[in-house]
Amino acid sequence: MPGRFYHDGKTTEKVIALTFDDGPGRTTPAILELLKQHHIRATFFMLGDQIEEFPDIARQVAAAGHEIGNHTYVHFDYHLAKNAAPQRLVHELAQTETTLQRALHDPSFHTQIVRMPYGYYNKTWLLPTLKEHGYALVHWSFGTDWKLALPADEMIRLYIAHAKPGAVFLFHDGGRHREKTLAAVTAVIDALEKKGYRFISAEEMFGGENAKDVQRSTSDVKGEPSGGRF
Ligand SMILES: [Zn+2]
Repeated sequence: MPGRFYHDGKTTEKVIALTFDDGPGRTTPAILELLKQHHIRATFFMLGDQIEEFPDIARQVAAAGHEIGNHTYVHFDYHLAKNAAPQRLVHELAQTETTLQRALHDPSFHTQIVRMPYGYYNKTWLLPTLKEHGYALVHWSFGTDWKLALPADEMIRLYIAHAKPGAVFLFHDGGRHREKTLAAVTAVIDALEKKGYRFISAEEMFGGENAKDVQRSTSDVKGEPSGGRF
């Protein structure tokens, strides 16, 4: 629903939303293959400039039936924005929509959800701006794959430890050094399926009449660290 802020599904079912940011990129096809093997529909928050670089991979994501969300055009850190931030964001989101429409050969394609770079969030202008333009904001409940110094087995352990009904996991299919992410996602899916979890898209977690959204204080929501492009 436009203008809403989602980061945890309110459910007792063992479902976890899988989300992938910063793509499309070179690791995306391998992620798609993994999701296909497990019959998982996930959500990909794409960057406009990456879609320009890998339009065929953006098409593969759409053709596989996954949900596509808007992660802005150039991954600007809005924590650094001073004036005109809303206008800048609206422009970036629109640029990404146009790029997606071209890549997918679908002039009517439009995303409905936004994930902000670096987990940027505020109540003053962001949510009203997104609402005005028909977007909901989707954050995450856990993610750690952008920490390149973290060994893969520790990364896997942390994701598994943060599994819970309604969790929203953040991974990255775009950017550098994503082979560790691929290994982690593979292991995390295997381990959690064995524990009875099912993986779904953000749309399935939050969308429709049975939207399992919950709005709460944002004090415990951590953003991505600034400095990297993850
Ligand atoms: Zn990002």
